[in-house]
Amino acid sequence: MGRHLEELSRSFHYESSIGVDPVAFVHRFSADPKAAEIMGIYASTIAVGNVLSIRRNLEELLRVMGGDPRGFVEGFPRRRWRTQLGAWKHRWIRAEQMGFLAVRLGEVYENYPGGLEEVFLDDQEGALTPDYFPSGLDALSRALRWGSTDLRHTFYEPPPGYLHLFPSPRGPGSAPVCKRLSLFARWMVRTGAPDLGLWKRVPPSILHVPLDTHVYWISYHIGLTRRKTRTWRTVEEITAALRRWDPVDPVRFDFALAHTGISGDCPKKPLLSVCGKCALRPDCDLWVRRAPRRAG
Ligand code: SF4
Repeated sequence: MGRHLEELSRSFHYESSIGVDPVAFVHRFSADPKAAEIMGIYASTIAVGNVLSIRRNLEELLRVMGGDPRGFVEGFPRRRWRTQLGAWKHRWIRAEQMGFLAVRLGEVYENYPGGLEEVFLDDQEGALTPDYFPSGLDALSRALRWGSTDLRHTFYEPPPGYLHLFPSPRGPGSAPVCKRLSLFARWMVRTGAPDLGLWKRVPPSILHVPLDTHVYWISYHIGLTRRKTRTWRTVEEITAALRRWDPVDPVRFDFALAHTGISGDCPKKPLLSVCGKCALRPDCDLWVRRAPRRAG
């Protein structure tokens, strides 16, 4: 398994895939870590659905921000958050929610001069326990919801649907996968392509996989998990499996797995024309169980 993941990672065309991924928007601001963090939060928050639609709506969002996400947040007229982004929308995500995010980011940067990395590290004890990553995501979730990890700001109440954009792995009931914040953390922490490595105090070994439907589909069929639902437990299980191959940087396989699905290079049924080139074919139950009948 590890050998095949390595092969997928080694042969993957990072350059062309980065160009169509939301992370490309974050790279535009890599010389200014605060601007990159802000762009990263916006880009990861709307990273749902079709990549072309995500890119189009991110481009439009950036245009409305005047091409300057840092200046947009720092100069944001908080009392007028409902009207600042016009009629912008992406699927169910509305302009007023993205305007309110600017309010919260302004409060977060006032409360945490070290930015979102400082928030992530707010509750950490220092030791790399299994709780390190969910604890950091929970701190990010609280800060983006309330402006601080331990204060509830009641002056500006969030619009409907806003709180659901930033779930915590410590949420009630069956904890959600928290794909957006895990993706944002991957962008900020990892140094290898396509990530930016802007956060210097968080080790990549603690990252968990940002589990979208593509990564889940392939992970399930190559045996990284046997769970039938996508929950935080599934995230932990897949991450633990990846960690066996690379304990220092377990999520370095994530981008290649996600884009294999996004690009259509992993069909719902095994096809020789597609699967024949797939490095994961020897581990894939779809191929192993069904291909002999279809290979011809
Ligand atoms: S063998 Fe085919 S179905 Fe299996 S992971 Fe590879 S591309 Fe996807």
